[in-house]
Amino acid sequence: MTQRPCYKQAEFTARIQQALGVDLGAVSCHIVDEDGMARVMGSAGWGRNDANGVVGFQLGQNVYVLDGAPWTTLHELVHRAGINADRLNRFVAEGLTEAVAERLRKSPDEHRPTYPREVAWIKQRLLPLLGMDALQLGRIIAQSSDPPRTLAALMAKAKPGTDESALRAQLAPQKPDEPSFNRLARITRPYPKVQRDDRVALGAVLTLAGMTLLLPSLLRGRA
Ligand SMILES: [Zn+2]
Repeated sequence: MTQRPCYKQAEFTARIQQALGVDLGAVSCHIVDEDGMARVMGSAGWGRNDANGVVGFQLGQNVYVLDGAPWTTLHELVHRAGINADRLNRFVAEGLTEAVAERLRKSPDEHRPTYPREVAWIKQRLLPLLGMDALQLGRIIAQSSDPPRTLAALMAKAKPGTDESALRAQLAPQKPDEPSFNRLARITRPYPKVQRDDRVALGAVLTLAGMTLLLPSLLRGRA
């Protein structure tokens, strides 16, 4: 396993810390080939097939980036700032991470789009509701000690009458005793496969869809 800094690691770290106002702390970034990715995922309880197409993987303070996909480093380091499925609903965390990475990228080598459904919901629904851009919300979530509570409060404030405690429950990170895509680690795939774990994410979409249905009238009300 190669022990060298990941692609633009120092530059990305400085940029993220500056934009989000948090310290990333210790990060060990490892560049691995496909076999290395399968091995490290295997050590965390994943099967060999699970590693197919995975370009980024996180385990504790370790970040693993596929050698052919240096562009995922920025996305993975944004997770390290505190926008991740250990702290917030995975659908929302991946979408916001992508939206932040898009804003922080300065050249095409630094980022490629992943999680299209998630990022579309963030950009077309959530950010307009809150009247914020991705970096403003990213900063709030990264700095929050309780992201589900913080985000539920913001959403309820933007749409009076929303059941804030129900929203808070929907925004909670996946629980360790439930089957979960992110049970042991966070993964970035370029094009997520439809599989059992994706249905977990889809459940979150459907639950949060109630919120998306509220938005048109809210936006009309604002205009
Ligand atoms: Zn991710």
